[in-house]
Amino acid sequence: MNTGEKYDALVVGAGPAGMAAARTLAEQGARVVLIDKHRAVGHKACAGGLTASGVERASIDPDALPVHARGFHSLTVHSSRWQSELRAESMLLVTIDRPSWTHSQLETLSGLGVDLRLGVR
Ligand SMILES: Cc1cc2nc3c(=O)[nH]c(=O)nc-3n(C[C@H](O)[C@H](O)[C@H](O)COP(=O)(O)OP(=O)(O)OC[C@H]3O[C@@H](n4cnc5c(N)ncnc54)[C@H](O)[C@@H]3O)c2cc1C
Repeated sequence: MNTGEKYDALVVGAGPAGMAAARTLAEQGARVVLIDKHRAVGHKACAGGLTASGVERASIDPDALPVHARGFHSLTVHSSRWQSELRAESMLLVTIDRPSWTHSQLETLSGLGVDLRLGVR
């Protein structure tokens, strides 16, 4: 890739890991370019389930969930022989619509000045 521009960091892959890396670097003042080989990102096969710690790491406020997210205070685990239910005051699990979440992350990155290049490997 030759853009003629100068960056401090090149992040390869605009999945959750690459977007988090790009965000961390940009928040620390680095000039970042984030590339992905696909022309569209965020359409990975994924159930979109996040545990409480995943919610925190994804920078989602559990008290102000975005419209594309849903929180659950109980979970039922089924097996062929038994079933168990977990209930909690706090949220146990959040499900997100992954393409919408990716879109909102890319908007944040754009606001931080991250240069996104799609269709580049
Ligand atoms: C069926 C299924 C269900 C799942 N359900 C859940 C769930 O409910 N909850 C959960 O937390 N996780 C779930 N996962 C796992 C989750 O999708 C992955 O853990 C997550 O996507 C990994 O993020 P990543 O950024 O490491 O990699 P990826 O999301 O795979 O992103 C890597 C990116 O790098 C790009 N790339 C690769 N090589 C290059 C290159 N050479 N140049 C440029 N770009 C490149 C790819 O195009 C891709 O966009 C599920 C996965 C599957 C398959």
